[in-house]
Amino acid sequence: MREFFDVVIIGAGVAGLSALLAIDDSQRVAVINPGSPLDTGSTWRAQGGVAVALGNDDSPELHAADTMVASRHLAEPRAVQTLTQEGPDRVTELLDRGLDVDRDADGETLFGLEAAHCRARVIHQKDHTGKALIGHLWERAKACRYASFFSQRATRLLLHNSAIGGVLLADGTLLDTPRVILASGGFAGLFEASTTGREVRGEGIVLAADVGARVRDLEFVQFHPTALDIATDGPLPLLTEALRGGGAKLRLESGERFVEELRPRDEVARAIASMRQKGHTVYLDLKPVERLAERFPGAYAHLTGSLRGKELLLPVRPAAHYTIGGVVTGLDGQTTVSGLYAAGEVASVGIHGANRLASNSLLEGLVFGHRAGRHAATSLRVWAPAPEGRPMVRMDEGPELALFRRLFEEATGVVRTSTGLARFLDWLNDQPVSVETILGRMVAESALARSESVGAHFRSDSSSSKIHVAG
Ligand SMILES: Cc1cc2nc3c(=O)[nH]c(=O)nc-3n(C[C@H](O)[C@H](O)[C@H](O)COP(=O)(O)OP(=O)(O)OC[C@H]3O[C@@H](n4cnc5c(N)ncnc54)[C@H](O)[C@@H]3O)c2cc1C
Repeated sequence: MREFFDVVIIGAGVAGLSALLAIDDSQRVAVINPGSPLDTGSTWRAQGGVAVALGNDDSPELHAADTMVASRHLAEPRAVQTLTQEGPDRVTELLDRGLDVDRDADGETLFGLEAAHCRARVIHQKDHTGKALIGHLWERAKACRYASFFSQRATRLLLHNSAIGGVLLADGTLLDTPRVILASGGFAGLFEASTTGREVRGEGIVLAADVGARVRDLEFVQFHPTALDIATDGPLPLLTEALRGGGAKLRLESGERFVEELRPRDEVARAIASMRQKGHTVYLDLKPVERLAERFPGAYAHLTGSLRGKELLLPVRPAAHYTIGGVVTGLDGQTTVSGLYAAGEVASVGIHGANRLASNSLLEGLVFGHRAGRHAATSLRVWAPAPEGRPMVRMDEGPELALFRRLFEEATGVVRTSTGLARFLDWLNDQPVSVETILGRMVAESALARSESVGAHFRSDSSSSKIHVAG
């Protein structure tokens, strides 16, 4: 089958659906997503909320300043300004259209305070904001008569004279189009321990790199310090930072504390990783948290049987959570390939630098997804059919991919060394080429090239490295 669309959107998370909703009905748009956005990708898993400067005591300037500090001043000020200035409009529009968020008795929106924010500015719906957001966007998307939805994966981007000409889908369908918006999410699901789904593998980054798009900063991977340490083939449940904000303590099996719980995420993650490497088990002690069952029903549900009555200790470990780098874009989502746009976690517009400020990524999808959709729909269209191509090879779930994940995590996990990275790259040389091995190579090479430790990238063989462990 071969069909023409004005715009093709790859991925239906917050970024892809925001792009779709910014396009008007003069365009024919295809949206590709393998399954329902209500249970694929990362958006539906988001817990904490959306950071936005809407409170009376807040301003886009304060939000921008916090974002720059978190980024270790490696974020791009214009991109950060765009995020924080346009964020209030995007979120107000959602609220006006009925997005359900937590409010006080007078109906005023409640703002949560999260680490490294100088103001309470995170709108939320209990601890399942992602579900509320994607449910709202999906209802509106389904009502777009100009959109066709394909429950498929994109397997190759096709070029004509160096410009986008089409997209190949897994079932062999070829969608002819002059404009593609990549909104396919990050690659945290490629790590052995991850808080997101196994399908979140960075395929979009590889599809874009394959047609020559510039990619950057893949070494910056955020590890969440407190994922529940259980044996599972799937994602590890997240124990939100708000538990530590509410007094939960990190302890070794002896009961001893070893780190200040509210240090930045990357520092806490490294302290936990270091203890685990020494053979300790690390627990999150929930006893100090008041009204635990009422405030944190998700965490409470993990305390089974006798644990509920007494110790309230849950084993924890760091897990890959969010990937900062991606396909380089301008403020309207344009990549270095004509007709190709990117937005959301797959993209690198420059708002995170070396570290992401908590709850900025849903806002990134809303703001830059919208901008990419608007720009793609109004840009001049020059199109000619692209020659047909072959799908890029993807690994199936199974023992080979499990081995890849283990070795990828050993090399590019919380703590990296040049020897570990070089060993992984050597191993890759003997593996059949696939989307996963290409991405693994790009991440390891980026981590090897950045020899100093900064933000979410930590090299223990760098002179600037130190692990913060409380006495
Ligand atoms: C447990 C958890 C909690 C989080 N909590 C928060 C929070 O509170 N606040 C916050 O701001 N951020 C949070 N984040 C991060 C945030 O959820 C993500 O960064 C954001 O949702 C990414 O949105 P996206 O639209 O870019 O990608 P996604 O939501 O991941 O959507 C991408 C979609 O593209 C599809 N796709 C992938 N490859 C292809 C392909 N080849 N063809 C077609 N489709 C494809 C995927 O299946 C997926 O459905 C959290 C993340 C996790 C994992």
